[in-house]
Amino acid sequence: MINMLTILEKKANRLPLNEEEITYFVHGYANGDIPDYQVSSLLMAIKLNGMNDLETSLLTKVMVSSGDVVDLSSIPGIKVDKHSTGGVGDKTSLIIGPIVSSLGLKLAKMSGRGLGHTGGTIDKLESIPGFNTSLSTTQFLNQVSTIGMAIVGQTGQLVPADKKMYALRDVTGTVQSIPLIAASIMSKKIASGAHTILLDVKFGHGAFMKTVEEATVLAKTMVTIGHQLGKDTQAILTDMNQPLGNTIGNRLEVLEAIETLKGRGPVDLTTLCVEASAIMLVQGNQFKSIPLAKAAIQTVINNGKAYQQFEAFVSAQGGDLTSFLGSQTRTPRYTHTILSNKDGFIQSIDALALGKLALLLGAGRLTKEDGIDEKAGLVLHKKPGESLVKGDSLLDLFSDKPITSSLLDEGLKAFTIDRKQPNLRPIIEKHITL
Ligand code: URA
Repeated sequence: MINMLTILEKKANRLPLNEEEITYFVHGYANGDIPDYQVSSLLMAIKLNGMNDLETSLLTKVMVSSGDVVDLSSIPGIKVDKHSTGGVGDKTSLIIGPIVSSLGLKLAKMSGRGLGHTGGTIDKLESIPGFNTSLSTTQFLNQVSTIGMAIVGQTGQLVPADKKMYALRDVTGTVQSIPLIAASIMSKKIASGAHTILLDVKFGHGAFMKTVEEATVLAKTMVTIGHQLGKDTQAILTDMNQPLGNTIGNRLEVLEAIETLKGRGPVDLTTLCVEASAIMLVQGNQFKSIPLAKAAIQTVINNGKAYQQFEAFVSAQGGDLTSFLGSQTRTPRYTHTILSNKDGFIQSIDALALGKLALLLGAGRLTKEDGIDEKAGLVLHKKPGESLVKGDSLLDLFSDKPITSSLLDEGLKAFTIDRKQPNLRPIIEKHITL
């Protein structure tokens, strides 16, 4: 007879759990039959003793079965999905979505809100007046069929077990566990119903995984789960030591995404989006090779098709781009520019520090209930490797709240400037296929 005590003892003794045991605790917890204290004890045992690949895949599969799986079969074509493990200035979905859907793929994407120093795609999109992130299932499916893409907030019926377990992990010190993170992310991706998944796993100061090694283990674990559950899953490891692109903050990031779709984006953001889009296009059988896909991406950026696709997507979800781009009332009340206090080269820019600064300016929320100032945020004038002289502009700050001198100090401290030219690492560290 299965019961929680025997499951707990097995995991405490480093023995693998089988499907029946995993189903017992995941469904039992989601249904309210097993109390928090037993599941938190098990989560801690998993954090300390780990799970093998088979257990992690079974956990993912069972978590998927705790709720609905989105049925995308009525949409013609190849349905693709992407996921980023989160960071500072990450607006890639707003760029990759229009690119890959203008080249024939169907992107049916569920995204999250930001919490803490990391931003969320849904908050970014909601900075566009009228943009509706909660379409009905029929509207969502119709839009992906006709326009080629839709981005909505996640519904409560998708992996309810993850919702409950994540809330418990958050208060029991069990978030930082590779099998638990992998199952949490992959269960939601698999329940979202696409044929292929591209994972952008961030490493560095501003990310969940601080080192390339940790990010590699997480990426390989998720890619393995995806394959075991029948999805073409690949991952790229990307640098989140520096903020991505030049902007942090919801409205500012949408503006930068538009510039990037028009071919005028910053190099790091453009490189990452082009590479990720190319991988997705090859995964989705639109092109035979990455170079062919990249050439086609360059064409849709140059001929305006990628941006037109963004306009069509925003308009289909009720967003008013004319008002977004034109309104003077969207100017923040306070602005300030931080200047460099020395000559040299930018060695690094602390993504975590700037993520936290943007949060304090109003760009993010400290609790789930907080509101967001969509205009608040930061614009970087310099990126690592660039030279500068004392008095050059480093960073603009925007807020509806007064910008205090301690916030300005934090902004300046995020930049490391030195006389020597730094060695820069590429934005994409590696591509993991299995
Ligand atoms: N994101 C998730 O969805 N789940 C985790 O456990 C960590 C990050």
